[in-house]
Amino acid sequence: MLIDKPMSELIKGFRDGSINPVDVINESYKNINNHSSSLNTLISVRDKTDVIKELKRLDPSLPLYGFTYVLKDSYVTTELPTTCASKILDGYYSPYDATVHQKLKKAGAILIAKGNQDAWGHGTSTENSDYGMGKNPWDPTRVVGGSSGGPAAAVSMRMCNFAIGEDTGGSIRNPASHCGIVGIKPSYGRVSRYGVIDLAMSLDQVGPLAQDVYGAALLLGVIAGHSDSDSTTFEEAVPDYNKNLTLPKLIKLGLSPEFEKLCSNKKIYALIKKKAEELAKKIGGEIKKVQLKYTPLGVQTYYPLVYTEFFSGTRKFDGRRFGKKIEDSCGEEVLRRILGGKEISRAEFHGTYYRKALKAKELIKKDFETAFGEVDFILSPVTPELPYILGHKITPEEDYALDAFTIPANLAGICAGVVPLGRIDGLPVGLQVMGAAFAEERLIALMNAVSI
Ligand code: GLN
Repeated sequence: MLIDKPMSELIKGFRDGSINPVDVINESYKNINNHSSSLNTLISVRDKTDVIKELKRLDPSLPLYGFTYVLKDSYVTTELPTTCASKILDGYYSPYDATVHQKLKKAGAILIAKGNQDAWGHGTSTENSDYGMGKNPWDPTRVVGGSSGGPAAAVSMRMCNFAIGEDTGGSIRNPASHCGIVGIKPSYGRVSRYGVIDLAMSLDQVGPLAQDVYGAALLLGVIAGHSDSDSTTFEEAVPDYNKNLTLPKLIKLGLSPEFEKLCSNKKIYALIKKKAEELAKKIGGEIKKVQLKYTPLGVQTYYPLVYTEFFSGTRKFDGRRFGKKIEDSCGEEVLRRILGGKEISRAEFHGTYYRKALKAKELIKKDFETAFGEVDFILSPVTPELPYILGHKITPEEDYALDAFTIPANLAGICAGVVPLGRIDGLPVGLQVMGAAFAEERLIALMNAVSI
């Protein structure tokens, strides 16, 4: 199958004429038709004739020429409706395109579909979707991960060449790990969030999901950079992330005893440790223990912030403009967060929750600043457990605890990537690599070293 080929090979094939992008597009549609409805991977799909028409208009010298992609349904697009997996927005067409979508189109890529997710981005499983529970392509009786479960499954099932997820507390990394693919959550401010429906605007970040590190790095290079329509983006120059993949000597890899304690599935942590040792040997680096003292408070810090920002963000969907109130028809988790956020906002004159959480966020950020003075990267699992059986009842606390390793990078604003490591009990498991804020170039070099 051509669609199985890595983006690096397809680029060559498209350029020298040995691969016709139409053939690759046909294979994507075949996979969509065979698997999307049974796995609940996609929410909306474009007509193949429109996609091919768009291809014909493109300049073949463009960097992403001919590649198809799936966007999480929280990105506004003019070609397909944007639902954020909530029936409240059913049939909503945006009058404009999200900045990342504009950039990808300009680089020659073509939107093929919008991916399923937990409604409004809440969750770690893609079970909380109004469009059906997403299923894991490796074992359809299990969750696919979330909240960007659809986009990750679409890459894993080769329904497209790449996808774009959104990550507030792990939503790119968690499904990347559960689907055996690569994902990057860039530093806060690295990629424009303009046109992404907010979950929590101080934490949300846009990032790529791809078959391999080369693909993810190429995509990050296209979507990163300052944007006039998002004042939280930084001016930092965007390098060619695939250019400088050599790592300096004596790289220090950090492992945190706090994370080890939090990893309930011991097989997962054993695999991470083994891989860290192999990696240190391979690159001529060393492993060091790093203390992340306040980081075990990540989950307790993150949720009050998310509840409050989500409550505030959703007031624009309060029924005045769109005719439906979220609270009247949403699922349990969304309602919990709206009511929780309302309560926290009300109690805030005491500075009880939100401001306290902001203080804890600063302490966690400092944990990482200190750690990155001692090591170059921190390695950890992505999730403390393997993907669970679909529909299995877990409490909100158990669900939130699944974010323990991913939330800290969002709170600290740093970058983090996921590379597939292997399988445990037949299910894919990824390694998380965390780097300092705006150290994406080095992070990608390390991810590359892990994967080759
Ligand atoms: N599980 C986290 C939450 O529900 C992650 C969400 C995300 O990253 N979009 O908030």
